[in-house]
Amino acid sequence: MSTGGFITIRGARANNLKSVDVDIPRRSLTVITGVSGSGKSSLAFDTLFAEGQRRYIETFSPYARTFLGPAARPDVDAIHGLTPVISIEQKTTNRNPRSTVGTITETYDYLRLLFARTATAYSPATGEPMVKHTQEQVLRQVLSRHDGAPIYILAPLVRGRKGHYRDLFETLARKGFINVRVDGRLQPLTPGMMLDRYRNHNVEVVVDKLVVNAKDEGRLRQSLDTAMQMGDGRVDILERNAQQPIHYSKRLVCPTTGISYDDPSPATFSFNSPEGACPQCNGLGYIAPSASQGEEDDGEEESPAVHTPCPACKGKRLRPQSLAFRIQGEDIADVANKELTALKAWLEALHTTSAGEGTGAATAAQIAAPIRAELTKRLDFLIDIGLDYLTLARPAASLSGGESQRIRLATQLGAGLVNVTYILDEPSIGLHPRDNHRLIHALKALRDLGNTVIVVEHDRDMMLAADYLIDIGPGAGEQGGNILFSGTPAELLTPPKPGAQGCDSLTARWLRGEETLGTPVTGVGGKEEGEAVRTLTISGCTGNNLRDVEARFPLGQLVCVCGVSGSGKSTLVCQTLLPLLAGRLHRALTPPLPFRDITGLEFIDKVVSVDQSPIGRTPRSNPATYTGLFTDIRNLFAQMPEALIRGYKPGRFSFNVKGGRCEECAGNGYKSIAMNFLPTVQTPCPVCRGARFNRATLEVRFRGKSIADVLNMTIEQAAAFFVNQPQLLPKLNTLLDVGLHYLRLGQPSNTLSGGESQRIKLAAELGKRDTGRTLYVLDEPTTGLHFADIRALLSVLRRLVERGNTVIIIEHNIELIAQADYLIELGPEGGKRGGRIIDAGTPEELARRRAGPTGQALYDAEGRD
Ligand code: ADP
Ligand code: ADP
Ligand code: ZN
Repeated sequence: MSTGGFITIRGARANNLKSVDVDIPRRSLTVITGVSGSGKSSLAFDTLFAEGQRRYIETFSPYARTFLGPAARPDVDAIHGLTPVISIEQKTTNRNPRSTVGTITETYDYLRLLFARTATAYSPATGEPMVKHTQEQVLRQVLSRHDGAPIYILAPLVRGRKGHYRDLFETLARKGFINVRVDGRLQPLTPGMMLDRYRNHNVEVVVDKLVVNAKDEGRLRQSLDTAMQMGDGRVDILERNAQQPIHYSKRLVCPTTGISYDDPSPATFSFNSPEGACPQCNGLGYIAPSASQGEEDDGEEESPAVHTPCPACKGKRLRPQSLAFRIQGEDIADVANKELTALKAWLEALHTTSAGEGTGAATAAQIAAPIRAELTKRLDFLIDIGLDYLTLARPAASLSGGESQRIRLATQLGAGLVNVTYILDEPSIGLHPRDNHRLIHALKALRDLGNTVIVVEHDRDMMLAADYLIDIGPGAGEQGGNILFSGTPAELLTPPKPGAQGCDSLTARWLRGEETLGTPVTGVGGKEEGEAVRTLTISGCTGNNLRDVEARFPLGQLVCVCGVSGSGKSTLVCQTLLPLLAGRLHRALTPPLPFRDITGLEFIDKVVSVDQSPIGRTPRSNPATYTGLFTDIRNLFAQMPEALIRGYKPGRFSFNVKGGRCEECAGNGYKSIAMNFLPTVQTPCPVCRGARFNRATLEVRFRGKSIADVLNMTIEQAAAFFVNQPQLLPKLNTLLDVGLHYLRLGQPSNTLSGGESQRIKLAAELGKRDTGRTLYVLDEPTTGLHFADIRALLSVLRRLVERGNTVIIIEHNIELIAQADYLIELGPEGGKRGGRIIDAGTPEELARRRAGPTGQALYDAEGRD
């Protein structure tokens, strides 16, 4: 299987890891799995990646390192056989509005090069192709075109610029010139001559006046030469009785109007360069809304303002001159707006047809060939990984985490590095099971280049396709951190025999089909048989790729919206339905994408989006503060005899206000040391040593524990500790229900994973007085979840539905989809070839009809069990 030896890890103790030893074969594909919180990231990122980073920093000079600070050494005894590490993560840190799919993959750089080398400029005034000539070509053309005619040979000196030009005229007179043409009128140079300095002028000097005749070629050549030198490569030929001259230039020029352009360079087509950017929008493509608008919201929400396309470039981001360059009638923005498959076809067509009428078809095709090859290779990586529906112009900030991770994976394949250790975090997110094999194929291609590929994954197909599997567990947090299994998938699939090899972990039993999510509870979601199902129906949806979609969501049910990546699920649910409901029910400001009508609104009174965004932006928020538990805990501490004697109010037990907190660190527990140019370094507070409170506050105890001790408890410990405090138990129990028993009450929100944040939000919702008419929306809630976690999540979602609420999820996990009451499948493909509802009904109905990939996958999954 592998010839590269092993990466050997000895005594790994990061976070919850129990000083584990594990060997990972090099040059193979290894999947690390286990329940959420079991320690997968602790092994992959906090151990392997951290060690790779540390070694990388060690290679810097001692001088450079004094700026970087000491690299944190992961808590591990030894790692051998590690090659340079690159992590390909999900986090879309790229919020830069100037980044697009094209810029981050560097494909747009090749497209710019292609345009610079082979595009034809068209006159913005007349639409005819612009031309350029060598001096010899100008001579030949003048001889043939004006044969026998009396002409003026003019050198253009001023084009549409203000000034009195007194000095210019004086210089010309001194050099012996006699006539000039000013604003279209021939006139003699006179002493003291000057123009209106506040108006725009055109000035040409008459270099020669002659009758064109092949016998006088010498004189003509010399005059043209002089004129082109004075005119910066340009010369105008005016026949005696003509109104307008004909323009010739070494530069690109419109033969009719004389507008001339510089030769294009790749920068001409860059909206991130002053040479290319539309001057009105600075290359953003839209006009930023006025700043005053967003001030009233709490700063947590995304700005609700919609961008209006720039009126000058119409969203194309480039200056008119750059857009004047076209290949087969299309400017670079048109081309960057093609879906990747269409772009590839366009490139292929360039091979056979002419590109660049100005250059000549054969040469343009020749020049284009190597650029086309590079570009096609990179597009293939993106298409093969299932991103065919994207465009190069798509803003990076609008990509989902899974999409941007797959883009980075494709980019790495294009880079062709060898002997690297790649670490990926759940690359299957957002991908329909139908397309899993494409991702697996890409990962294997990366491996076959000679790399070690390590992925943290929960996907069944991915596990079975791996060369090697590592299962961590058995539980989460303190109950996890052990290596349950490491070996090939075949070994894991072997049921254990008494006294023989084999693994009995949850993962193993699930892969062997011994554990499932249970029999689907489908039908009418807890409703009495025969009771009419109320529905919420939205029609005429046309956002992004949606084609006049009418979607009917049965209420009081678990509804799953599915379909391949790019089919329009988030467009329908997150960008149309959700903002529409939030606007109607809660006066939210984000406008929905276009729709015509909605009915059934009267059946719901609240809409809640439970997403994976952090529960707070600062380390000052944590599970206890977010769920409101901390308020109850502070009240409890304020009731303690010691607190009553000292007159401590609940506020005393907050680390956010003065009084009870440690003032040395302002209740942070650590001190930040600002470093020039570098991320801030944090060290534990020397006074409170991380406790966040002052000594007097810590003296108040409940059953022997201080407020800091309580924040340091796991939710499971806290539930046992507070068993006689009924006011605290409901909130603790909901946190246990969503499977977060292992989290600490005070764990800073910035250390929580997206899946953990999402489940804390769900727990908070479960704890609220619920209206029974709430609509919950969850986008891929299985992200980061092992089969066992999904089981816990499902029971929570079921509880919400049993109380009469509606749950709409966007999901790809076939096992969870099979548990839904009702499915809406979008498709059939991504992008332009998607955007329709191709089937809707119960999972059984979809599996029976197999109208789309989800029905097919459900059918296949049935066969497997
Ligand atoms: P997994 O990747 O399997 O979901 P992790 O390796 O992220 O699990 O986490 C393992 C345990 O370590 C969990 O209890 C988690 O809460 C804890 N943990 C992870 N990162 C940190 C951190 N930065 N600080 C404190 N605890 C952490
Ligand atoms: P799904 O959620 O099914 O993966 P999306 O709704 O994200 O699909 O995408 C549907 C189509 O709309 C795709 O062609 C996608 O590229 C396009 N799209 C989605 N979001 C945006 C956006 N912010 N800007 C431009 N196009 C978008
Ligand atoms: Zn402190």
